[in-house]
Amino acid sequence: MNSKFRVTLLGTGVPIPRPDRFGPSTLIEAGNHTVLIDAGRGATMRLFQLGIPIGQIDALLLTHFHSDHTVGIPDLWLTGWLNSYFGNRRRPFNVIGPVGTRTLMYHLEAAYSRDIEIRVEDEKLARENVAISVKEFTEDGVVYQAGELTVIAFTVDHGDAIKPAFGYRIEYQGRAVVISGDTRYNANVLRYGEHADLLIHEVAMARPELLGEAAIQRIVNHHTSPQEAGRVFAQTKPKLAAYTHLVMLASETIKPPTTDELIAATRETYAGPLQVGEDLMSFEIGETIAVRQN
Ligand SMILES: [Zn+2]
Ligand SMILES: [Zn+2]
Repeated sequence: MNSKFRVTLLGTGVPIPRPDRFGPSTLIEAGNHTVLIDAGRGATMRLFQLGIPIGQIDALLLTHFHSDHTVGIPDLWLTGWLNSYFGNRRRPFNVIGPVGTRTLMYHLEAAYSRDIEIRVEDEKLARENVAISVKEFTEDGVVYQAGELTVIAFTVDHGDAIKPAFGYRIEYQGRAVVISGDTRYNANVLRYGEHADLLIHEVAMARPELLGEAAIQRIVNHHTSPQEAGRVFAQTKPKLAAYTHLVMLASETIKPPTTDELIAATRETYAGPLQVGEDLMSFEIGETIAVRQN
């Protein structure tokens, strides 16, 4: 029995095209199963850095439709199809997400239809391995199951206009990892975050002098402040709390908050174990949680 249960942050960023924080994407390895939560910018490059063939991904699960969480999909889908050590998918591309996933994938297929025709004819790539299999869901519940791996989707609150929006609870051999998705402080994260070994939460922060701007207010209102995330961690008491999707707001004249400031703000409401995520940081979920920076 393979008891490996590892989570790796492929991208901890947001729409800002920073080379050190790629778009949101989280890799889950549980036994022989490999799934990805969201596919932001650069997800394939991070997989390559880890030596994981793109074609090895069993399923891609989407939290919501903001482009920073989905722009990596065509790369994952089409590069994963290529007949080489970094690709090599031998089955359809499996995507699971809220209603709207089918439309997104249908149009991607249309957009890349010429490339697909060309490669089928020229490279003799198998058409069945570029086919897309979509499963949509509408409500909280189990959305993926493979062996002892279970993935449960739960509704979160990313703002009134940004629906649907989901988080995920991933269970494997009695251990659990919860990913908040993009959300404001939300009771459902508390409910599904109960008894989680690792709770990975999004966070947004801006310096006080920036908070007066309407555009900044709007962004902050779609996310969770460090003090609120601290409350989530204090109430759910995971073995380890970690941040990803760091919305550190800035302007041309005002610098983004630092990691130290993010930690200090979280400490106003939470005193337990805390890790600020970095790209390629991994968490080995065992009796304790081992953190490694790849
Ligand atoms: Zn979002
Ligand atoms: Zn986002």
